[in-house]
Amino acid sequence: MNPISVFCDKLRMRDRQSPHHGPVTRFAPSPTGLLHLGHAYAALVAADAADSSGGIFLLRIDDIDRARSRAEFETAIYEDLSWLGLEWPKPVYRQSDHLDTYQSALAALDGLGVLYPCFCTRKQIQEEIARISDAPHGPEGALYPGTCRHLAMETRREWIEDGRPFAMRIDVARALATLEARPEFYESGAGPDGHQGQIAIRPELLGDVVLARRDIGTSYHLAVTVDDAAQGISLVTRGHDLFHATHMHVLLQTLLGLPTPDYGHHRLVRDAAGRRLAKRDAALSLRELRARGITPAAVREMALQRVA
Ligand code: GLU
Repeated sequence: MNPISVFCDKLRMRDRQSPHHGPVTRFAPSPTGLLHLGHAYAALVAADAADSSGGIFLLRIDDIDRARSRAEFETAIYEDLSWLGLEWPKPVYRQSDHLDTYQSALAALDGLGVLYPCFCTRKQIQEEIARISDAPHGPEGALYPGTCRHLAMETRREWIEDGRPFAMRIDVARALATLEARPEFYESGAGPDGHQGQIAIRPELLGDVVLARRDIGTSYHLAVTVDDAAQGISLVTRGHDLFHATHMHVLLQTLLGLPTPDYGHHRLVRDAAGRRLAKRDAALSLRELRARGITPAAVREMALQRVA
């Protein structure tokens, strides 16, 4: 049996449609800080998309980064979302319970010959980008310049045997070359430049991203792709800052034989200076707003007013 079908069997994929045939949506925060107004907006968009058409809203805890995830932030997520009036089925899917599934997915991709080990440190990557005059760039800045893609097989083997730490990257050009056609996804919201409708993916915009970090053996891109399939998500709603990541996720879904959900990218909640909110913006944390006596209905209003 080929590695991908083994992997898909392991996922025990659920029926993607809810009994009422509405979308299955999700909100997937990382427990690395307190939720703020931007999270409230994202959670409400996902919950409303499900509720308005008889679908199901799921919560997921994106905690692959064990060094940054904290139990008290996970507890705060449950409390803050309940206070907002949201409900979700339990038990909640936590990434840290699925590390072996990410390994199966990684092995399946490796079996396709579309991965390579990368021994570069962050510093070496920065130096290489500064050194080469035509370093590749995407909409989000400089891309991995491909240093380790060109390493001789023999060197790779030697360095691995020597115990050098390495990450695993996807070779995007090689991955696309294994496919008959460019995969597409349906955008029901809007990308950063107003993209809508059926969109052919351009994972080159992100370049050869890391699929297995040297510290945790997986990555945001790999875990999210596997989780959305494992949870049967049929509509991914999230901020348009993740629009380019979607191109990578659809590539991974296609390579792994997983279904491609629809995507609805939404605008972001911004502060008074027009910057998107970050976890450091304690003043707009749901905790703080609640302590100031602001009601959940008022939080919803505030989020809508600040979205841009
Ligand atoms: N956990 C991710 C975050 O907090 C969101 C996952 C996603 O929507 O892809 O940014």
